[in-house]
Order: sequence, then structure tokens, then C-alpha cells
Amino acid sequence: MPELKFGQVFTDHLFIVEHAEGAGWGRPQIRPFSQGITVHPAAQVLHYGMCCFEGMKAYLGVDGRGRLFRPDLNMQRMYRSSRRLMLADYDPGELLECLKELLRVDHQWLPEREGYSLYVRPFMFSSAHTLGVGRPTRSTIAITLSPVGPYFATGLTPIQLFLSEEHVRAWPGGVGDCKVGSNYAPTILPQAEAQRKHGTPQVLYTLPSIDGSDPESAVISESGAMNCFFLLDKADGSGLELTTPPLDGTILPGVTRDSILALARAWNDIEVAERYLTIREIKQASEEGRLREIFGCGTACIVQPVNALIRANGDVIAAPFDASSTSSMTARMTHALTDIQVPSDWSVPFDDAKIADKELFRAEA
Ligand SMILES: *Cc1c(COP(=O)(O)O)cnc(C)c1O
Repeated sequence: MPELKFGQVFTDHLFIVEHAEGAGWGRPQIRPFSQGITVHPAAQVLHYGMCCFEGMKAYLGVDGRGRLFRPDLNMQRMYRSSRRLMLADYDPGELLECLKELLRVDHQWLPEREGYSLYVRPFMFSSAHTLGVGRPTRSTIAITLSPVGPYFATGLTPIQLFLSEEHVRAWPGGVGDCKVGSNYAPTILPQAEAQRKHGTPQVLYTLPSIDGSDPESAVISESGAMNCFFLLDKADGSGLELTTPPLDGTILPGVTRDSILALARAWNDIEVAERYLTIREIKQASEEGRLREIFGCGTACIVQPVNALIRANGDVIAAPFDASSTSSMTARMTHALTDIQVPSDWSVPFDDAKIADKELFRAEA
């Protein structure tokens, strides 16, 4: 197989279903990908970013069965995002059944090579024909599948992140906890600037205090599409602590984040805390040699080791650890999360999906 660029190759089919106020949900369709999707030039999604999406992976389990990782969480999250945008109501459990059917139809696209998978992209948008900024009266749900290769060709390769103290990804009362398109468009510029000025491929956002009087008191948020974890030696010498920011509405509730927290808590050998970390705290921990590891996490990379945070003033907050050493938390988590792709409660087969005789989407009352 030639090298696969993320998200550029698609399978033969896509799933689509449309809703119009009054008429209710139309017939769900699995149709040739090449037919594309037609939208009206005034479709609200093209003007006001009224869309949301999900990202998950389907893979071949060691037992030869096609599987999804905790897909119910992705479906619930997309449902929450879509409700925030007032898109048409639907049953997320039924959408999961539609996804399984699409995977069954395109199952020959499921890569057999280790580390390869099908990236699953469900999305929903306002297809209402109006330039009015108002509640969507038409909604479309679609799902595409894209084969992807391993994120890391050779082992875990650490990256540096630019620590943004200027641009903010999400804010209290905003929609940072929803996977809505409008959260992502504004992150392209800061990311391109960070790459150009500091050579870092991604940005770690912070949330500064509103008056900006004490820049070091800004709290760490997350990366453009990754939640972030910090492994610290506690200042009082009482051992290690794995921390990540709490789900206060500014953080995307990642499935990988949730899985890492659950695993670390089950291992029960280090403290696990969902709490705020300020720039001051991690800077001090780094200077005192207590910042053991930093890693990002998300469906695409699973776990991404980070060995330094670069600030705009050139300061470096270093976490110089060997991610590939089997004793690192980063490597331990990576292996645990990869091993879960074997049959487990979190690994849901889709090859037995049967939806043919089921009414998928109830017509609107
Ligand atoms: C999708 C996403 C994540 C990762 O979520 P997973 O469910 O683990 O893939 C983290 N942060 C942001 C902003 C995201 O969009």
C-alpha cells in the first residue's frame, strides 16, 4: 500500500440521511461516495459554520472481527454537539447502527496491516436554504470512511508544542466542549504561525486571566485536537501525579482522555487528578526536574509524546523524557490503549450489525 495521507482517500460508499422540518427524516441511504453531497448555495453551513463532526476508528481485531473503540461515546458526543447547534433531533443509538451498516458494506476496505485502520467521520450540518441566521429547518447527517496508516511510522516520536498565551481556543460559557466546526477554523492561523516562527507542529492553548495582569497564572487548556496530560513529581515528594484539565466546558471531553483516566485510576499506582495547572506551576516543576512527562492524546495519534513547550518569548519548558522507554507513562498508556483493540468491553464488533428490517429514523410527529 502506498503511503496514506490522513483523510485523503475514501472508501466506495457514504452514508447520508436528511431531515426537513414538517417532513421529518428521509430514508437513510448508503450510496456511492463518488456521488458526493449537494448543498444549496444558501445552505446555512456554508455561511455560519453550522456543523459538527466526530472522529473515531474501525479496525480489524486479533479475532478477525471488525471493531469500533467505545463508539457509543462518540455518538453521544455528536448528539450533544448537534443539540447545541439546534440541528434536527435523532437517536444516537440508531446512528451507530447506520455506521455499522456502512462499515459492513465497505468492509473490504478495512486494512489488515498492523497499525492501519479506517478513520470514521460522522458529521452533521444545517442544509437549510436561507441566509437568515436562525434555527436550522433542514439538517443532514453523513458518514464517510477513510483508510489511515499508523500515526507513528517508527516508535513514539516526541514533538514540541507552542504554548499560546495570545490566542484562545475556548472560553467559559463557550462551546469548547462540543466538536463544532467553528472551533477549528480559527486554530489554523495560530498553528501556521507557531510552525513558521517556532517550528512547532501544534499549539497548546492556555486560558489567561481576563485582565492579563499575571501571564504566568494562565491555565493550561488543550491542543487544537488533542487533550493534554502532565506527569509530575509532586512538590512535597509524595510521589507521581498524572494531571489533565477538568471538563469545565472549555475542554473537549476526549474518548482517549476518558480511557487514559480510567486506566490510570485502575492501575492505582499513581495519583490521578483532573485539575487546573498554571504556566507558573509547570514552569517551576520543569525547572526543579519534576516535570516527568507531557503527552497529548486523541483518536488520531492515540498518544503523542511532547518533550518541550515553547513560549512566545523563546522560553522553553522542558520535559526531557524518553517516550519509547517501556517504563514511561506515555509508552505504558500507548501499549495499554493499543492492546484494548483486542476483544474487551470497550471494543465493539460491527460485523453482526443487522438493520435491514428496522425503521432507522422515526418520522417527525
Ligand atoms: C477530537 C478532539 C480531541 C480528542 O478526542 P478523542 O475522542 O480522544 O479523539 C481533543 N481535543 C479536541 C479539541 C478535539 O477536537
